Amino acid sequence: MAKADFEIPDIKNGVSVPAVKPGAMAHVKYHPASEAHLTKLGFPAKRVDNWKEVALAKMNELMGKYKSLSLFLDVCVKCGACADKCHYYLGTGDPNNMPVARQELMRKVYRKNFTLGGKLFGGLARAEDLTEEVLREWMAYFHQCSQCRRCSVFCPFGIDTAEISMAAREIMDSIGIGQKYTLEIIAKVHDTGNNLGIPKDALIGTLEFLEEDVKETTGVDVKFPLDQKGAEVMLIVPSADFFSSPHVDSLVGYAKVFHAAGISYTFSSHASEFANFGMFIGSYDNTKKIATRIADAGRDLGVKRIVVGECGHAYRVAYSFWNTLAGPFDYLDKNHSVPTHVCEFTDELLRRNALKLDKSANDEFTVTYHDSCNVARASRMGTEPGGQFEIPRNILKAVCNKYVEMDPEANREKTFCCGGGGGLLSDELLEVRVKGAAPKVSALKEVMDNQGVNTMAMICAICKAQFTKVLPYYDIPMEAVAGVHQLVSNAIQLGDK
Ligand code: SF4
Ligand code: SF4
Repeated sequence: MAKADFEIPDIKNGVSVPAVKPGAMAHVKYHPASEAHLTKLGFPAKRVDNWKEVALAKMNELMGKYKSLSLFLDVCVKCGACADKCHYYLGTGDPNNMPVARQELMRKVYRKNFTLGGKLFGGLARAEDLTEEVLREWMAYFHQCSQCRRCSVFCPFGIDTAEISMAAREIMDSIGIGQKYTLEIIAKVHDTGNNLGIPKDALIGTLEFLEEDVKETTGVDVKFPLDQKGAEVMLIVPSADFFSSPHVDSLVGYAKVFHAAGISYTFSSHASEFANFGMFIGSYDNTKKIATRIADAGRDLGVKRIVVGECGHAYRVAYSFWNTLAGPFDYLDKNHSVPTHVCEFTDELLRRNALKLDKSANDEFTVTYHDSCNVARASRMGTEPGGQFEIPRNILKAVCNKYVEMDPEANREKTFCCGGGGGLLSDELLEVRVKGAAPKVSALKEVMDNQGVNTMAMICAICKAQFTKVLPYYDIPMEAVAGVHQLVSNAIQLGDK
């Protein structure tokens, strides 16, 4: 079991609503962004002197721009339905990790500065000004929200805490106190086209290595083309797929599917990243810039279709915002959805019986499926309602003989986040990540203990990175994590089309 210098939640008997531990996670601090990254993204280089005025002006601007935000700040009736629905509250017991309390961190400032009652009656109206102390709370607790939207499923008004967290982070960026992890990554995409800062030469080297490796293991010339003008499809994946494990095994799976289908495709060196961390910091400008880079790459390559890889939040951005941010995608073939998720692409081939599979290749695995938040609660797949749940499962059942469902109260629409989404996948937030993972790990442990599951498949790069890191804290090997197309890769029979 991995060692920690903090207490690991006990999940032996499942995860129940914990005793309230005020301030239990108040010590959490993110690493501050550098001056260079802040300015590159259009924010002040350091905390501005008149930070309170700037922050309130930004808040006012955001409420004017996003009516949903001002509505969410107004309509909560404190019914408490969301209180025990956040994985960070369940894993930490800190009351500020109850969604309603997290929202209150902004709502009390809103009341104090933007409502008559708050201005006149202050604390009596539960209003509080944006003081140093309140700002410290914002910095801690708006970085203990993975923007997973689980709480909104249970709120009778659909209040979306994720949107409030995004606004809070945008306000903090606007006064010069952004988070290093997200801002550094966004800056790298603007510079190199991907989150990891991989230059084109390294990308070429990796793709050549993968071609050789697949040839060696299968005897088949599966191509990993880059910048191939006129290819039918541009495949855009999270850059972790090029280098990280187990991500790269799904990348090999996508390539094998294209090979088996006989459909030409290409990666792009200009846009070698599907992830879009602009959403995590609520920055429309940065989200748009990253999305536009992808739209431009597809246009330049002359492709007819864009297929996207296994990445949860990026799929949300693509599915929900690409058209507004970077559309119209009028150069693409109108017979296909924009974007097409690689699971839709593979599922379509399976329905046409166009792939030859040997399910027994996965017989050592008893597989369950983890629904990633942004796919489950912020997007759709295919043409049927609930396609985002059924399509990945259809694929898994087509490529594995042993498939088991987790508790639906912890999966599907009510899925618990992996604990590392929303820009929290950095080392200084490890305690938050390990504790926040407890509810999902508990659901996994239940099917491992009772139904022999040894593999949890998923379609999100962040979930893969998070679970490989945190599962060992719960005495589960990181090898339990797999991509859906990793299992496709094992089962697919190349040669015949
Ligand atoms: S992490 Fe998810 S459940 Fe928790 S407050 Fe944020 S959006 Fe809601
Ligand atoms: S469920 Fe909605 S209305 Fe009820 S306390 Fe939570 S945010 Fe407020």
